[in-house]
Amino acid sequence: MEKKQFQAESKRLLDMMIHSIYSQKEIFLRELISNASDAIDKIYYKALTDESLQFDKDSYYIKIVADKDNRTLKISDTGIGMTKEDLEHNLGTIAKSGSLAFKNENELKDGYDIIGQFGVGFYSSFMVADVVTVISKALGSDEAYKWESTGADGYTIESYEKDSVGTEIILTLKENTEDDNYDEYVDEYRLKSIIKKYSDFIRYPIKMDVTGRRLKEGSDNEFEEYREEQTINSMVPIWRKNKKELTSEDYEKFYAEKHYGFDKPSKHIHISVDGAVRYNAILFIPEKIPFDYYTKEYEKGLELYSNGVLIMNKCADLLPDYFSFVKGMVDSEDLSLNISREMLQHDRQLKLIAKNIKSKIKNQLQSLLKEEREKYEEFYNAFGRQLKFGVYSDFGSNKDVLQDLLMFYSSKEKKLVTLDEYVSRMPEDQKYIYYASGESYERIEKLPQTELVLEKGFEILYFTDDIDEFAIKMLMAYKEKEFRSVSSGDLGIEEDETEQNTDAQQDEYKDLFAYMKDMLADKVKAVRISKRLKTHPVCLSTEGEVTIEMEKILKSMPN
Ligand code: ADP
Ligand code: MG
Repeated sequence: MEKKQFQAESKRLLDMMIHSIYSQKEIFLRELISNASDAIDKIYYKALTDESLQFDKDSYYIKIVADKDNRTLKISDTGIGMTKEDLEHNLGTIAKSGSLAFKNENELKDGYDIIGQFGVGFYSSFMVADVVTVISKALGSDEAYKWESTGADGYTIESYEKDSVGTEIILTLKENTEDDNYDEYVDEYRLKSIIKKYSDFIRYPIKMDVTGRRLKEGSDNEFEEYREEQTINSMVPIWRKNKKELTSEDYEKFYAEKHYGFDKPSKHIHISVDGAVRYNAILFIPEKIPFDYYTKEYEKGLELYSNGVLIMNKCADLLPDYFSFVKGMVDSEDLSLNISREMLQHDRQLKLIAKNIKSKIKNQLQSLLKEEREKYEEFYNAFGRQLKFGVYSDFGSNKDVLQDLLMFYSSKEKKLVTLDEYVSRMPEDQKYIYYASGESYERIEKLPQTELVLEKGFEILYFTDDIDEFAIKMLMAYKEKEFRSVSSGDLGIEEDETEQNTDAQQDEYKDLFAYMKDMLADKVKAVRISKRLKTHPVCLSTEGEVTIEMEKILKSMPN
């Protein structure tokens, strides 16, 4: 038996690997399963070009065997296997990826999803194991070998017996310490959940013997233990399936399985893009507001997969804040990942995807508004506030995306209307989009400032949400119609009385007004004759941008 040293740099790299690259120990299983899947992919690929080879899908699988007594975990595959040279080159040299070389040599084009590229994933097994043993027989070879390593001090290679082509990796788990318990990696239940979490969409079956309890046949109260081999992963991800073959129930089931929410989704968006950047996504608009939605605790983001392998649980960069309520996942083969495959190397592809997703969500909401008004209003009542924050917070650059999605309560319709609906029925002599702010619709209705506008037959939007007026100030105008508060000094309404007439009146009551101004001191800036009152004797009005309601809100905000 020969004992070989890892190359000098490799030792340091291995140490770094074990201690710092990955944030979670459990991902070692993701890495080993991905390697096994790559190895099967390679046979699959070879069979495509080599007629003497047959690829019979049923004989290709990955098997996980946990041995509690000996504290070992075995991951075996029926993939392409490794020769002695492969073992030395690919496992003996850290940062050497046989898979990347394979991809390059065979000029693999689209559709071959080999995952490996960095040549480090394998070493993550040393995060949980003291000894790693690899037994492998390569396709087309009569000999098998055993590679074994206890970590930084090198590895041994010797001839070994193995009947079938493929690879077995046996991890002898580390002893438990006060901080770390490694027994969980021989616990069936735990292993199952790790496989589900990261490797659910690996294309080949991941099999494991599991123990369970079930009713005895023919009995309705007697149970029996059973032990059987099960396939743990679902293999074909729903997002790779044809939309036409999927029902709303399929999407609802996926939503529930993924724990996106306890409600049912009110709408799903299934995207398959094959353009400058390729990705599949399934997004959901929830029906109900998550309990923590309007709190700091709420974390936005979509699950991110690279080739069916989970990379990130909540990728925040995929969603703008104003669509933070959207749940779902994105899978792309075009992401450049960093070495731990937990983060992205460049965000160019991600930015493209995010941009694309943004417009898909917008379109979906717009068609919901058009086609299922009631559902949209439900949605708007739950998440409309977030859209208005979106208009307000991004200095107007979200305007185009969001302005058509906004709704406000209308004096005319006594229900929510869109800005487009408002503007399209404006009489010709109406210059502005009028709004009035207040605590409730009932209160706003009683405001003296609304009288003139309503009498003219103009519609008023009622703002009861404190963000409303701030958002509208950012928009400034919709379809070139400016927004105007009914309490603003200039309502742009032509009056029958001539200017002179009011000027004369203003003059006539000069002393009274001066007296009133005196009494109110610095509470008002001026006292004037008003043309807008019909049944009320007085009202307050403002000059400039900040209305009375806004002032109230600004004053109530903590400095
Ligand atoms: P990567 O997967 O990024 O290439 P790894 O460190 O995970 O890096 O694996 C290194 C190399 O070892 C792989 O590229 C592959 O050539 C080889 N390898 C690892 N596991 C297997 C396996 N189960 N079957 C065949 N080859 C394997
Ligand atoms: Mg790998």
